[in-house]
Amino acid sequence: MDPSASESVKEKRSRHTVDPLAPEFLPLPPFEQCFPNSTKEFREAVHEPTGTVIHVPFRRVHLSGEEPYLDIYDTSGPQNISPQIGLPKIRKEWIEKREGNGDQRLTQMFYAKKGIITEEMLFCALRENLDAEFVRSEVARGRAIIPSNKKHLELEPMIVGRNFLVKVNANIGNSAVLSSIEDEVQKLQWATMWGADTVMDLSTGRHIHETREWILRNSSVPVGTVPIYQALEKVDGIAENLTWEVFRETLIEQAEQGVDYFTIHAGVLLRYVPLTAKRMTGIVSRGGSIHAKWCLAYHKENFAYEHWDDILDICNQYDISLSIGDGLRPGSIYDANDAAQFAELATQGELTRRAWEKDVQVMNEGPGHIPMHKIPENMEKQLDWCNEAPFYTLGPLTTDIAPGYDHITSAIGAANIGALGTALLCYVTPKEHLGLPNRDDVKAGVIAYKIAAHAADLAKRHPYAQAWDDALSKARFEFRWKDQFALSLDPTTAQEFHDESLPAEGAKVAHFCSMCGPKFCSMKITEDVRKYAEEHGYGDAEEAIKHGMDAMSAEFLAAKKTVSGEQWGETGGEIYIPKHHVAEGKNTLAP
Ligand code: SF4
Repeated sequence: MDPSASESVKEKRSRHTVDPLAPEFLPLPPFEQCFPNSTKEFREAVHEPTGTVIHVPFRRVHLSGEEPYLDIYDTSGPQNISPQIGLPKIRKEWIEKREGNGDQRLTQMFYAKKGIITEEMLFCALRENLDAEFVRSEVARGRAIIPSNKKHLELEPMIVGRNFLVKVNANIGNSAVLSSIEDEVQKLQWATMWGADTVMDLSTGRHIHETREWILRNSSVPVGTVPIYQALEKVDGIAENLTWEVFRETLIEQAEQGVDYFTIHAGVLLRYVPLTAKRMTGIVSRGGSIHAKWCLAYHKENFAYEHWDDILDICNQYDISLSIGDGLRPGSIYDANDAAQFAELATQGELTRRAWEKDVQVMNEGPGHIPMHKIPENMEKQLDWCNEAPFYTLGPLTTDIAPGYDHITSAIGAANIGALGTALLCYVTPKEHLGLPNRDDVKAGVIAYKIAAHAADLAKRHPYAQAWDDALSKARFEFRWKDQFALSLDPTTAQEFHDESLPAEGAKVAHFCSMCGPKFCSMKITEDVRKYAEEHGYGDAEEAIKHGMDAMSAEFLAAKKTVSGEQWGETGGEIYIPKHHVAEGKNTLAP
């Protein structure tokens, strides 16, 4: 065989799954390796109305000496289970009991409005250290959602809302160019290992149904999709051939598989499309552009808008949350906050209120590319026009000048809008605008967004957020290097960076690192000052510093010397240049 031909077969195999019914899954580094000194633990509770026992996961970080452990919210899901088998179906019993009641609707909002606390609500309350009744009331009000399709039995429920921890979504999914089920399942596992709270399967191209099936059966976090992508594949990529029937059939197919939330761009109305004509970057949302093209081709209203009630009737039978898409979001700083964007947002508000009437849980998608000074207006209008339904934003990217670093340009915007109340932050990876992200890009995106989300939690003064910072700061100040690594969002990277210059085991107890070195380590100096205070019987370090400074000052004055050792009158050691050295009219020594 021609060696180049064999190479091309190999290459093809690495790009595309050979058998979608039996993918060749690859192992990932295990939990213990990713999080040294951490264990997975479970908090047990009884759901009183049904007597069901639920087990809520969290990560326990064990610290050295007498330091107490720290429990952290955990999204990593059950470990060491072959993807071929799939995750345990923890919600099976919950759903069976509920379905036996013959309830008219099956959504969390339906039960919340009736005053019923479901197993999912209790699960979320324990995860967030909050009262279950508070969770129920927020869901009933529409201010929070628990995306949880009754067919996604592997789900560990989580809540999205402005009064809860800020959450992070990771987009995965293959494309027509790269379609490997193995890679996408790995990205799911990798994203949730590092903290993704939800994932969206944005697959296009081949094996869409099978890819989604493997993802759902291996996902302990809610899975969202954009059903119009698959509907378009069904009509060979020709937007004009889309019909409500094809779309409806796709919604039901995905609902049956267990998709927890649908992004539907029902707010892209025919009359809004001309508003994008003068934009720098037009319509950048894939879903938005498909609907816009269809609307223009037939000069008809968006079929998703026209059939909104039919969509709601599907969603409230499965408990699928709606993520009302922002198909007209700006795709550049130039287009930020324009008329098209806000026209669609107003329609999102109308669609939200209609969904609530049918007990469907809703969140609103938001931009996009927005400079920092224009971010608050987005949050204010969404709160006002969409009645405080959770806001779910893509970034926003705060500048367009850094392809390759858009996880950073967007995490800046995400932290900003998160602090203002956005509940779910859709990550952006370094590959944004450039290519399909790989596993490493997924991790970089998730970590950047965990930082943004946590920074927002701190700014919102979430009651438990700062405990994590305080534990890490204390470990850092006390030179407990291994504790500092263990408490990091990404312990392995933190340790690798430290060990790059000081790899010896002894350096893990050293009172400095290679950044400033032993003589200039400010934390070591502070430690010495505190020790000095203790040894000399001063109440605190401040008193010791003052006493030490007074003593030095007296010494300098007696010797008629400056702090840098020169006799009075000499130059070079003074903080301010003596007046007679400054040329007339100048305030520098430059000629
Ligand atoms: S050497 Fe500098 S960076 Fe390193 S621990 Fe000390 S103060 Fe911190």
